[in-house]
Amino acid sequence: MKKDIYKIVERDIPLIPLRGMSVFPYMVIHFDVGREKSINALEKSMIDDSLIFLCSQIDPKKDDPSIDDFYHVGTVSKIKQMLKLPGGSIRVLIEGVSRGKIINIKQEEPFFEAEIEEFTYELEDIKIDKEIEAAMRLVVDDFEEYVTLSSRVSPELLLTITEIEDPGRLVDMVASYVYLKPEDNQRILEAFDFYERLEILHLILQEEIEILEIEEKINQRVKVQISKVQKEYYLREQMKAIQKELGERDELVEEVENYKEKINKIKMPKEEKEKALDEADRLLRLSPNSAETGVIRTYLDWIVELPWDIETKDKINIKSAREILNTEHFGLEDVKERILEFIAIRKLKKNMKGPILCLVGPPGVGKTSIAKSIAKSLNRKFVRMSLGGIRDEAEIRGHRRTYVGAMPGRIISLIKKSGSKNPVFLFDEIDKLSSDFRGDPASALLEVLDPEQNNTFTDNFLEAPFDLSKVMFITTANTTSSIPAPLLDRMEVIRISGYTEEEKFNIAMEHLLPKQLKEHGLSKENLSVSEPAVRDIINNYTREAGVRNLERNIANVCRKAAKKIVEDDVKTVRVNRGNLANYLGVPKYRYDLADDKNKVGVATGLAWTAVGGETLSIEVNCMKGTGKLQLTGKLGDVMKESAMAGISYIRANSERLNIEDDFYKDMDIHIHVPEGAIPKDGPSAGITMATAVISALTNRAIDSSVAMTGEITLRGRVLPVGGIKEKVLAAHRAGIKKILIPIENKSDLEEIPDKVKKKIEFILVDNMLQVLDEALIIEGDNSESN
Ligand code: ADP
Repeated sequence: MKKDIYKIVERDIPLIPLRGMSVFPYMVIHFDVGREKSINALEKSMIDDSLIFLCSQIDPKKDDPSIDDFYHVGTVSKIKQMLKLPGGSIRVLIEGVSRGKIINIKQEEPFFEAEIEEFTYELEDIKIDKEIEAAMRLVVDDFEEYVTLSSRVSPELLLTITEIEDPGRLVDMVASYVYLKPEDNQRILEAFDFYERLEILHLILQEEIEILEIEEKINQRVKVQISKVQKEYYLREQMKAIQKELGERDELVEEVENYKEKINKIKMPKEEKEKALDEADRLLRLSPNSAETGVIRTYLDWIVELPWDIETKDKINIKSAREILNTEHFGLEDVKERILEFIAIRKLKKNMKGPILCLVGPPGVGKTSIAKSIAKSLNRKFVRMSLGGIRDEAEIRGHRRTYVGAMPGRIISLIKKSGSKNPVFLFDEIDKLSSDFRGDPASALLEVLDPEQNNTFTDNFLEAPFDLSKVMFITTANTTSSIPAPLLDRMEVIRISGYTEEEKFNIAMEHLLPKQLKEHGLSKENLSVSEPAVRDIINNYTREAGVRNLERNIANVCRKAAKKIVEDDVKTVRVNRGNLANYLGVPKYRYDLADDKNKVGVATGLAWTAVGGETLSIEVNCMKGTGKLQLTGKLGDVMKESAMAGISYIRANSERLNIEDDFYKDMDIHIHVPEGAIPKDGPSAGITMATAVISALTNRAIDSSVAMTGEITLRGRVLPVGGIKEKVLAAHRAGIKKILIPIENKSDLEEIPDKVKKKIEFILVDNMLQVLDEALIIEGDNSESN
């Protein structure tokens, strides 16, 4: 060790062992002192000359180090400031002065006092040779490098460092600025030779720099990685946003182009077409989320999907049409002929603005299914719209687009559904159309059905005329009486009356049963329904002119049978009269079979309602009174008047009828028609009521096997009435043997099936006396009176 330039001074000064830090000469630093011994040392030093010896503890964790626990080379320092901190510790600011070495520890308590050698020197004594010069430059370079790599050292220090001429000081300064391990600090402190000290520092710094470089590299790598990930994420998000923006726009443009292309292909009036194209363009201008775009889309969808010029080709072949009608419907010969004629005329006169067919008859007689067959035989599409209870014109003509949730009307909807502009379009229940404050659907319908107007039918939603003139309209109704006259005028009425039991039986066996078996996935082997069982269903489970409930009951049988087959694992289910109740429950109806007893004052009439014919028993009681006429059983005005006409006839002809001519003075007559809940009206019970009254007044019984229908005049003439077929069928069901009908209804008898004709005797009557002759039992023959 070249200590020759050093001046050595021996001194006894207090000592403080430092934990985890070193102090170099020229270094100014503050630290907190907490250990009692150290505080004592500080206090002693302040009393003397403020000098203190600072050396590093070998193991910083030791609280109470002994002499062997600290390095013996340290720094003689000067205390510059002391500040008492709360809690008893002291913050000191000190400045390193020179190196020192412990020779001896003079005392350990109450503080360490060491005998040291202090090494000082003069700047001018230093000889700087080339080696030292070079080493100094290396250290400065190292420091520069260190500063650029480490963020912990301020670059301004470089200037201070480069100006230092003293190699020893240079190292001490640099060492105090860079962060070194305690052992390295100690190695520098213990290097008294300047060159050696420079070399040590150079080595240490090189090592440090290398570590810093590695650190930096790692850092960079991590940073690059992080920033790469971040950048990619950011770019990707941006790309997505751009793509979305472009894509949505593209999609919208494409959608609009699509609409426009389709609209351009449509054959529709130019003006409306332009309007539709404009609407499509508006989609581009409106915000995609606005409610209006939804309405526009709905509108455009309707426009492009409507069959503007799609027409199915008619196949008019009478032979095959007849075949279709015959295979799908039993009987109805006249109806089928009328329909074939209708089709034939179509063939001869293309584009005929012909009348509209109106199928009139009770429910379930096959009006709808005939209309379907017509469509099938013409090779046209079929759509059906029920008019029952439609009050709102908008249902027919649609709502304006400004209306929330607006939609086109049913006509346009169904045309779209049919996919062609010339379907068979069935208006069901045209007689049930009603009108109220929401507009008059009948007049809208009139426009639809009017061949002069319907080629420009304009739905409120579409606001574009659609040609309905190619549509074949068919309507159905239960009666014609409630069809608005202007509508009825345009229609050709085809009446379908109810079926006889025999016809129902055939329809059931040939059509309904096979159809229901198929619908329930059953075969003939799975389910057999005996003929008597079918008749039982007809007579005891249904009471109708048509076959709707019959079909429903057959469907019920099929459903229960299917369940049984699946559940009980049986192969075949046989339904017969004996077990029918297991499938359908107890019989619902019992036909009012005609009383087999002849009674006074009880006559059987025949009524005709919208749901078919009925037998009607009319009862009359005559009792002492004041000549009052009482009518009960919910009778309509026409029926009441008809009763009064009968009474007048009786009064005028009392003598001939063998009745006292002033019978009405002290007699009350009560006419009652049972089943009061059902409203009854019409003049056709006229002769029946008169007969019952005469029977009651003369006390002659009426033949219970006779039924009658006919209007009566004051002169006793019998006038024709409607619904003969229905009435006859009802009488037949009730077991009537003889029916009196007005002579003018003779032609109606042609419609009566032969089977019925064989069982019933028809008497054509034209005056009341004839009626009485047939109906009243000849005296003495009276089996019972009431
Ligand atoms: P409507 O329209 O007159 O009320 P539907 O056409 O709905 O009656 O007929 C009810 C059911 O009865 C349908 O399944 C139909 O096929 C059937 N039907 C009615 N009449 C006949 C018939 N003459 N031949 C075969 N099936 C019939």
